[in-house]
Amino acid sequence: MKLDIVTIFPEYFAPLDISLLGKARRAGLLDVRVHDLRDWTHDRHRTVDDTPYGGGPGMVMKPDPWGEALDTLVPPTTPTAEPDPEPGTDESGAREFGAGAAPATVPRLIIPTPSGRPFTQADAVRYAAEPWLVFACGRYEGIDTRVAEEARTRMPVDEVSLGDFVLAGGEVAVLVMVEAIGRLLPGVLGNADSVADDSFAPGAMESLLEGPVYTKPPVWRERPVPDILLSGHHGAIARWRRDEALRRTARHRPELLSHLAPEALDKHDRAVLREAGFPVDGEGMAD
Ligand code: SAM
Repeated sequence: MKLDIVTIFPEYFAPLDISLLGKARRAGLLDVRVHDLRDWTHDRHRTVDDTPYGGGPGMVMKPDPWGEALDTLVPPTTPTAEPDPEPGTDESGAREFGAGAAPATVPRLIIPTPSGRPFTQADAVRYAAEPWLVFACGRYEGIDTRVAEEARTRMPVDEVSLGDFVLAGGEVAVLVMVEAIGRLLPGVLGNADSVADDSFAPGAMESLLEGPVYTKPPVWRERPVPDILLSGHHGAIARWRRDEALRRTARHRPELLSHLAPEALDKHDRAVLREAGFPVDGEGMAD
């Protein structure tokens, strides 16, 4: 997978050289290129921002360097006739985009912004299946809106939020997304099965958080590991893990339980949820 990251702080991305992602890069599974947006400025001060039209506090990132950066990374030889029909909803990977003249392969452009739609594990899975992603790290009050509009005429563009809080810049958001995506690439994790057990993993437990985990020693500071985990009884262990996942989800993220289809809950699940104080059996959404 190829990743291009455009930022005014390339040094923010040093962590991509370590741990899992560093290994993935060295193994050739992940080709990450970090670009300094200021390389596409032409004045002495290498200016990337200006005052906002309409007034107000702060500065806005100028469209010119962003336009040139994207033109360099994704040369505009691609036909521009047909914009992304529904911005942010295109499900396919790097693709032949537009109609008419010779089609070209283009990346998906991902713009982190608190005003985007929430980034989820499902997005990470979807992005991990794409061959080429470009990330645009905003700063100040964000990037002039015309940059995303223009880019959308020649590549799919997603504006995504990491959550309901405001960071100082897009760099940390991009690091988070790259890690979430990168660990899903085939060959990156030592044990690919662990992905299937993750909180939010697509599949049967999709709406459940992962329950508690333990390792050796069996007793630590007078706290024993639950006996069931030492029993070797796989069926009982799976049931215990599901019970704990249900309890933790009811406690920390009850709204996730509303995504479970009623038939996804068996009698035992319902008993566990009822005991955890979550409404079932006609009282609420899990029924
Ligand atoms: N004035 C903007 C607003 O309220 O929507 C916030 C701009 S923020 C200070 C600067 C940059 O940080 C944004 O352009 C974006 O790249 C990044 N950023 C901040 N919070 C974010 C979040 N929750 N998710 C993703 N990116 C975020």
